[in-house]
Amino acid sequence: MNETTRNKGAQMSSSQMKSSQLKSSQMSSNKMQSSENVLRASNVAKTYAEGGLRTHVLSDVSFTLKRGETMAIVGASGSGKSTLLHIIGGLDTLTAGEVEVDGRVLSRLSDAERGRVRNRSLGFIYQFHHLLPEFTALENVCMPLLIRGTAIGEAEKQATTLLERVGLGARTHHKPSELSGGERQRCAVARALVTRPACVLGDEPTGNLDEANAAQVYALMLELNHEIGTSFILVTHDPRLAAKMDRTLVLHNGVLQESPAR
Ligand code: ADP
Ligand code: MG
Repeated sequence: MNETTRNKGAQMSSSQMKSSQLKSSQMSSNKMQSSENVLRASNVAKTYAEGGLRTHVLSDVSFTLKRGETMAIVGASGSGKSTLLHIIGGLDTLTAGEVEVDGRVLSRLSDAERGRVRNRSLGFIYQFHHLLPEFTALENVCMPLLIRGTAIGEAEKQATTLLERVGLGARTHHKPSELSGGERQRCAVARALVTRPACVLGDEPTGNLDEANAAQVYALMLELNHEIGTSFILVTHDPRLAAKMDRTLVLHNGVLQESPAR
């Protein structure tokens, strides 16, 4: 790959992608090969109780997500989208029901085991990148690999490959403050995918970007979905972005429902 190609990584065509370094044997899984569930939520309920005040946010949420499948969650502000994503991601507890990630029921795990499932099976992308400001793009993307015990040399190799893939090959030593908004989110996408997780959870991952950059980041996520076989659950306000996913589910009155076929 020359420098120009590298900088245009985000716009690579699918045929170019086929020859990219990302296409290694360890990433041979894709959505055509398996109907296995990577996520299952069963009758999930969540009530916040603070100072005698009870807020019923989720009343009955059930869904399954297959390996390689992409799903959008839409719903009004305050409908509980972030709460649901936090529960799926093991960052918040539920009041009732069950969440299974890659075959493990989160509520039956110790904190340490849940931490391992999160690191092994999930990737996270937030609206505001949440990159660590004092570290470079390369160091930020290496972080999830170092947490799981990958040697630094190998972590840097894998992180560099993915940064090149998202079009940041010339920015690996820049800190987040030295990147544009779109570049920061592409760096956050690389960080979420560097461990080849079963599923990436994105809470309005392009909510802070202009239309062109949002479309570019969505296109990139979908390309990586095809290449790596990672499933995506993305919360978005934008129906045009939701329409790019395999399915759209609507969260309303604490219940998640499949949106009618498009
Ligand atoms: P969304 O992401 O769809 O905008 P949230 O999941 O952030 O919605 O919030 C859903 C509801 O839960 C809101 O009414 C919010 O005020 C409430 N809520 C969120 N977090 C807490 C909390 N820690 N304590 C009490 N209420 C909360
Ligand atoms: Mg939210």
